[in-house]
Amino acid sequence: MTSVYETVLEQFREVAELVQLEEYLRKRFEKPEREIIVNFPVKMDDGSVEIFTGYRVQHSTLRGPAKGGIRYHPSVNLEEVEALAMLMTWKTAVVNLPYGGAKGGVRCDPKEMSRGELERLTRRYAYELSQVIGPEKDIPAPDVNTNEQIMAWIMDTYSMGKGYTVPGVVTGKPLSIGGSRGRREATGRGCVYIMMEAFKELGINPRNARVVVQGFGKVGRPLVKYASLKGCKVVAVSDSKGGIYNPEGLNFEKLQKTKIEKGSVIYYPDGKVIQHDEVFEVECECFVPAALGNAITEKRAEEMRCRVICEAANGPTTPEGDRVLNEKDVLIIPDILANAGGVTVSYFEWVQSIQEYFWSEEEVVSKLREILVDAYREVAETARKYETNRRMGALALAVNRTAEALRLRGIYP
Ligand code: GLU
Repeated sequence: MTSVYETVLEQFREVAELVQLEEYLRKRFEKPEREIIVNFPVKMDDGSVEIFTGYRVQHSTLRGPAKGGIRYHPSVNLEEVEALAMLMTWKTAVVNLPYGGAKGGVRCDPKEMSRGELERLTRRYAYELSQVIGPEKDIPAPDVNTNEQIMAWIMDTYSMGKGYTVPGVVTGKPLSIGGSRGRREATGRGCVYIMMEAFKELGINPRNARVVVQGFGKVGRPLVKYASLKGCKVVAVSDSKGGIYNPEGLNFEKLQKTKIEKGSVIYYPDGKVIQHDEVFEVECECFVPAALGNAITEKRAEEMRCRVICEAANGPTTPEGDRVLNEKDVLIIPDILANAGGVTVSYFEWVQSIQEYFWSEEEVVSKLREILVDAYREVAETARKYETNRRMGALALAVNRTAEALRLRGIYP
């Protein structure tokens, strides 16, 4: 099976060819600027000590501090973190934020750990990284299985070392300690703005447009909420236990209640329970992968019946899946554009943290929408210019911006 690393590298090589990138820039961008691997002990509740491995990869700091989330997952490995860090460089460049790209992760199974164990793991990992992160260097944020509480622990640990509070060291913090209004829902909400642009372009009326969402977590939930508010009919939703389908549409509040009370969307009262694989076969106007990478394989792509895909997850489509969907003329809005709402509001949070001046939710949301709609248009124009699809268009825009920064800054010494 292709790894996210291979997928991302293959995409980069393709776009480098497309924009005729100089050889030295290709070599520069294939490798991250800096990679940190830390092995550290954590005291477990039963009195034993476990050794965990954590990573932080800073792919680029050419356009500003490195930026990107931290994930906790048993499958985290260096190559995956490298790939996701590179994607962050392109993502911040697509939406033109003054950032580079980074990613971090700890190989662990947070579902099997207590709150105390997670806190000790997070604090020790943050301590190990404290020399390389910072508001002007590298700013972590939530990603798979990490949340506001974990960001609060990282911020606190880093601040203890400094001797004063440094809210700008992370984004995705709780509101009461310097977080931003609208950050929690930003990725899902942003993805819906992008979906609306795609519908407009294809002449699809959002009212009753059928949407399928694979994943009902931090991104999937607000996505279902805001898509429903736009009048879309969310006909199927899945999580790690399976999927739920109802051609008449699923109700967001009821889905949310079911997930919280029973632990999975499959217990939703009025719908048909379907297998995880079957979610990909449901006919719809827009399919949204909002879980882990490489979900849309060649086989699943062949079965999919949708007109648009908005990639809310990072790296959800394999190169073979991508090829099949492009042949089927599906409009794929790539991750680096479709899910850029999260990092965009992270940027707003960082600005607010540094200035200690906070914005209203309306301000956050209207600026978010403006940035995403502009980026959508720029990506479409770039794709047209290079006569290519949106993924290559978005990557071309991002790689050209990053390359321009290197050409201008030059090579030290
Ligand atoms: N983890 C999110 C992403 O992949 C957010 C990153 C951030 O806000 O820095 O885009």
